[in-house]
Amino acid sequence: MAFDDSLVKDVLKHADIVKVISAYLPVIRKGKDYLAKCPFHDDTNPSMHISPELQIFKCFVCGTSGNAIGFVIKYEHLSFKEAVKKVAEICDYHDPRLDDIHQTKVVDPKRGPLVKCLHDLTVYYQYALNSPEGKTGLDYFNSRHLDADLRSKFLLGYAFKDGKALGYAFKDGKATIRFLEEKGHSLKTIEDAGLASSTTGTYTDRNAGRVIFPIIDANGDLC
Ligand SMILES: [Zn+2]
Repeated sequence: MAFDDSLVKDVLKHADIVKVISAYLPVIRKGKDYLAKCPFHDDTNPSMHISPELQIFKCFVCGTSGNAIGFVIKYEHLSFKEAVKKVAEICDYHDPRLDDIHQTKVVDPKRGPLVKCLHDLTVYYQYALNSPEGKTGLDYFNSRHLDADLRSKFLLGYAFKDGKALGYAFKDGKATIRFLEEKGHSLKTIEDAGLASSTTGTYTDRNAGRVIFPIIDANGDLC
């Protein structure tokens, strides 16, 4: 069954983010807002601000933020649907449409190829950073004191413009597309991964010539 957007809106309308976060963490009131120790970094002070007015939370140290559903996804590592159901449960909101949601991981058939594509891409960008063409990126990271350990920990990379280091002679980011195709990824997956555009009928890497900071989701997957 397709997920009903109006259900998400109804759940959020009846949700109280303070009540949701209080179900997991001690929360203290400060003025019109609330504070909690942030569970998403090693927090010593209560750095996470919760706004009942805006129905959002934000950590002013690690930057994690979102609404009640986002908090539950990150805290419990649940899928979006499971988190919607959980928020409704905590807030005593009953809706028969929620009964169709089961506590199982929802597998998106596109997700596997996408994650694999992003994994190959990250390895490629890391390789590019350490190639002669990646020197611009490396100089940038060094100027920001991001040493080899940090670069490796955060999977930092650089996107080739031409990919000479791989024996390619392409321009303007076409090397990335060729590399991913040779790895068996379809143009559809490459486009779904959000890294290619084909405005002129030719696919090019929209990151070409830039340094790369990959994003990891709450499940530890590249996203
Ligand atoms: Zn934090």
